[in-house]
Amino acid sequence: MRIILFGPPGAGKGTQAKLIEKEYNIPQLSTGEMFRSAIKNQTPLGIKIKDILDAGKLVPDQTVVELVEEALNDEKFLNGYILDGFPRTVPQAKAFEERLKKNGKKLHSFLSLEVPDEELMKRILSRGEGRADDTPEKVKVRLEVYNEETAPVLNYYKQQGVYRAIDGLGTIEEIYARIKKVLDN
Ligand code: ADP
Repeated sequence: MRIILFGPPGAGKGTQAKLIEKEYNIPQLSTGEMFRSAIKNQTPLGIKIKDILDAGKLVPDQTVVELVEEALNDEKFLNGYILDGFPRTVPQAKAFEERLKKNGKKLHSFLSLEVPDEELMKRILSRGEGRADDTPEKVKVRLEVYNEETAPVLNYYKQQGVYRAIDGLGTIEEIYARIKKVLDN
């Protein structure tokens, strides 16, 4: 199964991706985690993008697309994957669809975790992961960037017929149960 887990910052994509990964045995790929690890290890990529992540802005499409395409070539993703944090712009979505088409593959579902803005801010500020972009000002930037650049990806996938809305309010288990229902159908 090829799954995109979509949603605003703080919607719980990473948490739910890990649960799906465990139960369905499908590896996840998180662009945010890849970037944070590159920064931590001070790789050339990490050095290039540190300021962007710290500011809450988006890494340029070309950089992200190249990185994801390369990563997905790993054979562990041959039978499926969960994408967390990608695609985050319409050009990224188009590049990804292009790749699927080229490989004769199909997306199983585009799961959109829906959570109101006030709740997102609350969740991020209380999760205390110590991320440089988890301050009130940076979260505000990330939510703005989400609304302007990422939300249009929703419409793109609604047109593809794989879009499924998931109510992202409730306990982790409740939300996961909603996801399972969609995936098991
Ligand atoms: P969140 O969803 O909570 O913002 P992520 O871990 O998904 O956290 O992303 C953290 C940061 O990594 C983003 O604010 C952005 O700077 C960068 N990033 C992650 N994925 C992408 C992407 N697909 N395109 C551009 N930038 C990205």
